[in-house]
Amino acid sequence: MPSDIEIARAATLKPIAQVAEKLGIPEDALHNYGKHIAKIDHGYIASLESRPEGKLVLVTAISPTPAGEGKTTTTVGLGDALNRIGQKTMICLREPSLGPCFGMKGGAAGGGKAQVVPMEQINLHFTGDFHAITSAHSLAAALIDNHIYWANELNIDVRRIFWRRVVDMNDRALRAINQSLGGVANGFPREDGFDITVASEVMAVFCLAKNLEDLEERLGRIVIAETRDRKLVTLKDVKATGAMTVLLKDALQPNLVQTLEGNPALIHGGPFANIAHGCNSVIATRSGLRLADYTVTEAGFGADLGAEKFIDIKCRQAGLKPSAVVIVATVRALKMHGGVNKKDLGSENIEALERGFENLARHVTNVRNFGLPVVVGVNHFYADTDAEHEKLKALCAEKLQVEAITCKHWADGGAGAEALAHAVVKLAEGEQKPLAYTYESEGKLTDKIKAIATKLYGASDIQIESKAATKLAAFDKEGYGHLPVCMAKTQYSFSTDPNLMGAPSGHIIGVRDVRLSAGAGFVVVICGEIMTMPGLPRVPAADTIRLDANGQIDGLF
Ligand code: ADP
Ligand code: MG
Repeated sequence: MPSDIEIARAATLKPIAQVAEKLGIPEDALHNYGKHIAKIDHGYIASLESRPEGKLVLVTAISPTPAGEGKTTTTVGLGDALNRIGQKTMICLREPSLGPCFGMKGGAAGGGKAQVVPMEQINLHFTGDFHAITSAHSLAAALIDNHIYWANELNIDVRRIFWRRVVDMNDRALRAINQSLGGVANGFPREDGFDITVASEVMAVFCLAKNLEDLEERLGRIVIAETRDRKLVTLKDVKATGAMTVLLKDALQPNLVQTLEGNPALIHGGPFANIAHGCNSVIATRSGLRLADYTVTEAGFGADLGAEKFIDIKCRQAGLKPSAVVIVATVRALKMHGGVNKKDLGSENIEALERGFENLARHVTNVRNFGLPVVVGVNHFYADTDAEHEKLKALCAEKLQVEAITCKHWADGGAGAEALAHAVVKLAEGEQKPLAYTYESEGKLTDKIKAIATKLYGASDIQIESKAATKLAAFDKEGYGHLPVCMAKTQYSFSTDPNLMGAPSGHIIGVRDVRLSAGAGFVVVICGEIMTMPGLPRVPAADTIRLDANGQIDGLF
């Protein structure tokens, strides 16, 4: 099989207006970025408001392992398959971050025959949305220091500024810095640091905003510092929001691209899945629902984090509800959950698969507890054996009464996921229950954390460090208690120990710190160490990325 970039490059792409036409989007609603990418105009998006909405399908997964699961690949493959069986379908995905492309992560545009294209542009600058977000964030940072420089009328405590700076790059050297050095003209020296752009609260706000007005209001609620007498200071207080909204105006229009099979996909926004909620913009999802019969979307990490935040944060805030959920699993990853090393994944191991199945079982039960119908999509890898797939299907049927379907979209495109598409339609058109959130909005923040830990993670209790407990009590008192919580925990385990695979029970979830994201509308709960500025590996992918003699990009995945 050729590499992802070779497959992507060999594809013949349709002009983007033709892709738009499939969903009845007129050409004058498109702002073209070259031949194969277009933003959809705000005015046209607003004109869709009164339309009935199609069905939403969420693609989530078991706890990630180094063996790879393939949520994005399955989202794309399922979207193509739904189109093949005659359902008008939109795919909604996150925009990839530039930083990890030069590290080790690999692409974020799917893989094999299930990709969105043009993949080089999507993975690199794309339509400049992340540059706009970086600029808006940077403007706020500049305005804060400028406010302090001139008279500091708000009495901002320079030791208590929470607003860091951002850049869309993996650059560990910037995690902690000293700034404003060099004399009186340069301001008041203080400690600061950079996060990667996807970790900016501007990104989270961008993805949860309903429209431009909502964007500006949310930006205004972002808490950036405390005053000397410990009052909260917002971006509205430093008068940053009007100009930030101007910088974000064009970016907030969703980006239309196509799959290798010429079907429409909106790729818009890309918040971190740990300190934020990890899914594409509400504007893109809503547009998909109003334009198509089916909208397939992906949530980051495993279902304990991604699907939980998708439902308890995004669906709750935006009034969305999936009609069906696909949980992606692979035989390889389940064998790793059952104790097999990555290098031994090539050989059949039914016993390990059976042990690792408990990870999938916990996720299926969790998603069902939201009141949602589930199907397991088993993403087929080349070295899997038939016996392993049969075993997995039997385990799913006997122990969970859930259907598991082997999918070969990576090798065969949409044709390889038709069975999954039929199963999804059956679920989505079948009986629907009301959405059951993990916790209600009223109630204390600590109780919300405990509900997630005990109901989804299998923990027996939570343990909140005193610094975090004080902050939580203050948030409750300052009127932020109604917000949902956004868990920042290792994605590799139901516990806080990344090495504890499978489905651990009875553990304690330790809460080290909490942060208020008042603009996004959640309280981030930090369990363990959370990295908001990644570094590059010893041998970064950038070492081998170059332009070849034909001006084509070499070495990108
Ligand atoms: P996720 O969204 O869960 O992070 P992706 O869909 O992005 O995962 O897939 C991660 C990587 O695994 C991609 O490079 C993709 O090409 C590869 N991959 C996915 N499915 C398969 C498969 N069935 N066989 C081989 N490689 C695959
Ligand atoms: Mg993905």
